[in-house]
Amino acid sequence: MASEDKKPKAACFDGEAARSLVKELRGTFDAGKTKSYEWRVLQLKSLLKLTKDHEDDIIDALRSDLSKPVLEAFVSEIAMLKSSCEFTLKQLKRWMVPEKVKTSITTFPSSAEIVSEPLGIVLVISAWNYPFLLSLDPVIGAIAAGNAVVLKPSEIAPATSSLLAKLLGEYMDSSAVKVIEGAVPETSALLAQKWDKIFYTGNGKVGSIVLAAAAKHLTPVSLELGGKCPVIVDSNINLIITARRIIAGKWGMNNGQACISADHIITTKDFAPKLIDALKVELVKFYGNDPLASEDLSRIVSSNHFARVTKLLDDDKVSGKIVHGGQKDQSNLKIAPTILLDVPEDSLIMNEEIFGPLLPIVTVDNLEDSFNIINSGEKPLAAYLFTNNKKLKESFVRNVSAGGLLINDVALHITNPYLPFGGVGESGIGSYHGRFSFDTFTHKKAVLYRSFTGDASARYPPYTPGKLRLL
Ligand code: NAD
Repeated sequence: MASEDKKPKAACFDGEAARSLVKELRGTFDAGKTKSYEWRVLQLKSLLKLTKDHEDDIIDALRSDLSKPVLEAFVSEIAMLKSSCEFTLKQLKRWMVPEKVKTSITTFPSSAEIVSEPLGIVLVISAWNYPFLLSLDPVIGAIAAGNAVVLKPSEIAPATSSLLAKLLGEYMDSSAVKVIEGAVPETSALLAQKWDKIFYTGNGKVGSIVLAAAAKHLTPVSLELGGKCPVIVDSNINLIITARRIIAGKWGMNNGQACISADHIITTKDFAPKLIDALKVELVKFYGNDPLASEDLSRIVSSNHFARVTKLLDDDKVSGKIVHGGQKDQSNLKIAPTILLDVPEDSLIMNEEIFGPLLPIVTVDNLEDSFNIINSGEKPLAAYLFTNNKKLKESFVRNVSAGGLLINDVALHITNPYLPFGGVGESGIGSYHGRFSFDTFTHKKAVLYRSFTGDASARYPPYTPGKLRLL
């Protein structure tokens, strides 16, 4: 059943409850409990244990919220979370060591270091599409950096939200790690409080609400937003592998409901028919002739989102443009992998993030034109290029601005913990993953050490002409 069809929980988390929650966490943080290396490690190990102990429950919750295929749920949520936790546990000691830096002549003699200090109490607000991973991955960073944290999972994935509330209550230090479930009223009550950091994942409209609430208290924010992620396809490629990777990075990612899944393709007029044929062949191999019956495709998360995606297809401007798919089943919230060709620029589908199983193909005369098309719109969270052409790759990296770029694949850059993950411009503020998560929840405190030797009298008044000549 879709989440909007379920009866909403009675609101019981109001402003008063939010104030007392923040007070409690502030008390825990000020007592210094969360700052020790040992506490951080203990919490991260508990999070890892929680994940390992409850793999089946997590998979069940993801099935209930999204019909997420078991393998996909395991690889893209459970395994990713475990590897993030293990990586952090391995690196944490090193990250916490103050970084010695050089000094300048103006402070001679002195020494200097950058001390990583936890920000304090942090709020993590997460989205429904990867509801387990997107909730706990930022929590890993917050704990690793020594903060107390409140997680507000998405109400659009209610089974995962309630599982997270139950499990974090059982496994984590409840004086420092809390889960508040709820929708807009509960989130608004939380946002009205003073936090030391807010980390939000979701759409840009709500991102502005979060930013405005944070501005009242001068609270720093990370906004992990979305946008339209383009895939440029050259003719100088391995066609079959390209088709398979595009399918995996579109329909194999929550049936297109992923922030870095392929939003649309840009290719040349000549090459589009060949690419479409290859995509069709591989789609049938992956999902059969009746994709609505396939167990390997997630459903659309809710009836509201089903209506949103359907509206993109029902737009008059795209009528007659479907070259593959188009089937839908409202009763199961399923939409088949659908390819559209040459939809008009001013159609709804080309002006909104699709976040679903529709893939328009835009054609150009010259592939380098696609760089201007991308750069003239909102900055994407990710942009992709398939080519064997070295010059084209170089030009893509030099000229296209996006949160991240990936050449000859889709979405896989997210799995490299040495790369920052985040947007630029409309696709977000800040980044995380690996060391970047630790830094996101850390204040880099500048510390300079001086002794009482080498005291230059030139810095003190009276400022005689002789002292001026020394400059
Ligand atoms: P959503 O509906 O789950 O909303 C996200 C969070 O915002 C939820 O916790 C929700 O309770 C809260 N929220 C909703 N309305 C609010 C309001 N008026 N005031 C305060 N809080 C509110 O998720 P969504 O926005 O539909 O998620 C999809 C979007 O998120 C897409 O744009 C996608 O690209 C983006 N996204 C980005 C990333 C990333 O890592 N950059 C990951 C996943 C999704």
